[in-house]
Amino acid sequence: MTYPDTNLFIDGHWRPALSGERLPVLDPATGAEIGSVAKAGRADLDAALAAAEASFAAWKKTSPLLRAQTMRKAADLLRARADEIAAMMSAEQGKPLPQAKGETLAGADIIDWFAEEARRTYGQVIPARVPGVTQLTVKEAIGPVAAFTPWNFPINQVVRKVSLALAAGCTIIIKAPEETPASPAALIRCFAEAGIPAGVLNLVYGDPAEISAYLIPHPVIQKISFTGSTAIGKRLAALAGQHMKRATMELGGHAPVLIFDDADVDAAVAALAGSKFRNAGQVCISPTRFLVQEPVAERFTEGFLAMARAVRVGPWSQASSDMGPLANARRIPALERMIEDALAKGGQLRCGGRRIGNEGWFFEPTVLTDVPPDAEIMNEEPFGPVVVINRFREDDEAFSEANRLPYGLAAYAWSRSSARVQRLQDEIRAGMLTINHIGLSLPEVPFGGIGDSGVGTEGGSEAIEAYLQTRFVTRLG
Ligand code: NAD
Repeated sequence: MTYPDTNLFIDGHWRPALSGERLPVLDPATGAEIGSVAKAGRADLDAALAAAEASFAAWKKTSPLLRAQTMRKAADLLRARADEIAAMMSAEQGKPLPQAKGETLAGADIIDWFAEEARRTYGQVIPARVPGVTQLTVKEAIGPVAAFTPWNFPINQVVRKVSLALAAGCTIIIKAPEETPASPAALIRCFAEAGIPAGVLNLVYGDPAEISAYLIPHPVIQKISFTGSTAIGKRLAALAGQHMKRATMELGGHAPVLIFDDADVDAAVAALAGSKFRNAGQVCISPTRFLVQEPVAERFTEGFLAMARAVRVGPWSQASSDMGPLANARRIPALERMIEDALAKGGQLRCGGRRIGNEGWFFEPTVLTDVPPDAEIMNEEPFGPVVVINRFREDDEAFSEANRLPYGLAAYAWSRSSARVQRLQDEIRAGMLTINHIGLSLPEVPFGGIGDSGVGTEGGSEAIEAYLQTRFVTRLG
């Protein structure tokens, strides 16, 4: 695979920015420049806005069946190209090839799911009070969408937003991640070649802050979707609110993991180690604050440490690598700072804790124990391969720690007691809770947070509602 340079896709054409400006793309395994991406300026955004506006009326009226058929063709193209696209993703993002391929194939399943949802955008007929009156609701596409996605899952985040928009009958301008531009562009190419009309789907890259500041208030744009940090999400949601635009926000989390004394400890260790070090922990739903009940704490910790020490860290080009580098250089000082702070406040470093070598952005799988709640890492998501394992005595302690933070994205728990499982279901404040197995992030189930973790879902049958508006019509005769 030769890593390709990436251009903008506007009104059905792949082209450089009108200014000719480009940004470098770096290989996280070496830090070397491997390619470049076009940097859109105001004139490119205006062209994308004009295309999204002009194509909206016809796309909205295109039958849902035809929209769904076209989308499913794109899914088939994505599956057929999965090996090639996965290699691009690994090269630009650093994750091992099987993870990149898994993400690409899962992207095809997401397209298929939302393609079918296009055919189920039902309205209602509401019984009238007066004879001869018909009352009905009509669901229709909300309008052109502006969407912003991050670098940790270059395809997964783009595919959810694009598929939802297309299924609903919206047009879309997607600002995909500048750090990892080629794999999302390859995804967009699948949609274009499947027959999505020119102008309906537009792809840009550039300065994220400049692009969001221009697109969100723009009168053409009717709906915003953002995945990224809570801090930026709050700023973008405020801007969307000022302009009365609907917004879906998929933001950060700080997932608690509750392991009770009656848990299947070995199953929990195996499932959590696999999940934690996936994508080097750069996952918004990554399990992070482990709370383990005293009687099983030693066994769990020793088991998890053994798994963490066995993780083979290396570049994607080595088939043996279980975990790649961090995706960008700024994560290294961020993790080092959090680990240093945890140790200064009394936490214990049980394994890892350091950058590996000085080429690329590799970091050791890291386990900290006994970290006090005022440490930064107990309050801000590490977004890296770092776990905190703390102990608790009474169930109440674990529930209150789990619910202590303003975040509420994912939560994990292991217990064989049905009473505890029921209490978890009732009391854990998270948009997604997985008990005794890892079962999140399928196309057909909700994906989204509560509290500071965001607003709305981009999975499951509710998701398409956020791209539709409801109009009520009552008529006599
Ligand atoms: P960041 O907050 O600078 O950026 C996060 C994402 O938002 C990036 O993709 C970035 O391009 C985009 N972004 C930043 N400012 C923007 C703006 N004004 N308008 C539109 N988009 C904007 O952080 P980062 O260094 O890239 O990542 C660090 C933190 O971000 C992580 O610790 C994590 O909390 C969060 N993050 C979350 C997710 C997620 O899946 N929810 C993904 C990536 C990053």
